[in-house]
Amino acid sequence: MSVPKRRQTSSRRDRRRKHNDVLSFSHTVKCSRCGSQALPHRACPDCGTYKGKQVVSEKK
Ligand SMILES: [Zn+2]
Repeated sequence: MSVPKRRQTSSRRDRRRKHNDVLSFSHTVKCSRCGSQALPHRACPDCGTYKGKQVVSEKK
C-alpha cells in the first residue's frame, strides 16, 4: 500500500473539503410562493414548498 510522502498542509486540506460543504454554495433560486432565497432542487426552508406543492411542514 502506498503512503503519502509529505503531510498535506491545512490550507490544502481545507481547500479540498470546502467543496463538500453544501452551505457554501452561493447559487440560490427564488421561492415561487414566498419569494425567499432557497437552494435549487430543494424544498423552500421558509414555507416548505417545492414546485408549488407543500412537501415539508411549515416552519413556525
Ligand atoms: Zn417559500
